[in-house]
Amino acid sequence: MQKITIAIDGYSSCGKSTLAKALAHKLNYSYIDTGAMYRAVTVYALRNGIIDENNNINVEKLIASLDNIEVTFVFNPQTHISDTYLNNENVEREIRTMQVSSIVSKVSSIKEVREKMVALQRKMGKSKGVILDGRDIGTNVFPKAELKLFMTADGDVRAHRRLTEYSSKGQYFTLEEVKHSLLERDTEDINRKENPLIKADDAIILDNSDISREEQLEFVLKLIADLQFISRQEQSQH
Ligand code: C5P
Repeated sequence: MQKITIAIDGYSSCGKSTLAKALAHKLNYSYIDTGAMYRAVTVYALRNGIIDENNNINVEKLIASLDNIEVTFVFNPQTHISDTYLNNENVEREIRTMQVSSIVSKVSSIKEVREKMVALQRKMGKSKGVILDGRDIGTNVFPKAELKLFMTADGDVRAHRRLTEYSSKGQYFTLEEVKHSLLERDTEDINRKENPLIKADDAIILDNSDISREEQLEFVLKLIADLQFISRQEQSQH
């Protein structure tokens, strides 16, 4: 089967990465978690005093530091997924903390940060057989992706999912705190000037508030099969 590029965008904690990983596994595609890249830049900024205790970012200093920030993915044979590395250090756990979540949208709204990450994402994803999830994949990073999904889910459902994820890692918050953080991040992502979160015109909406992981996977596999069928038909007509 011909390999394609799959772009998955949508709101925070909609299950984008869960679906992307399942698809990558099923199709033997590579998966690029673009949110993890912005999170790694945020970890660098926090560690180097570029973000202060009140979450103020020294934007000039961050821009000047970009050449010192290297984000890579390294396959983890134990989990069968790739871990995020910042300057050759595994930061997979650190990038998923509430502290990082509370400031990453501000970091990702900086034009120079986005330029660097988008260039890297295009390089990493340039061969077909790749799935990227994020906020601007279908609109900006790979606007010609053959399949674009825009994921959404009810706010409470999303907050519950994220709360469970945090507590499984020993981080405890109230549902309200988690929900507030998610919605705040969405608002920032939607309203920023550079590559805001917006549905691409040709993206297919997937609301997974009430459907299981298996059903989502089946739904997308069917979309891919239909795409392949249409493309074979078009080829046979030429
Ligand atoms: O997907 P995740 O929740 O890990 O993304 C963290 C943040 O990174 C988002 O809230 C958004 O601010 C930023 N992001 C982005 N563009 C992407 C992926 C993520 O701006 N393509």
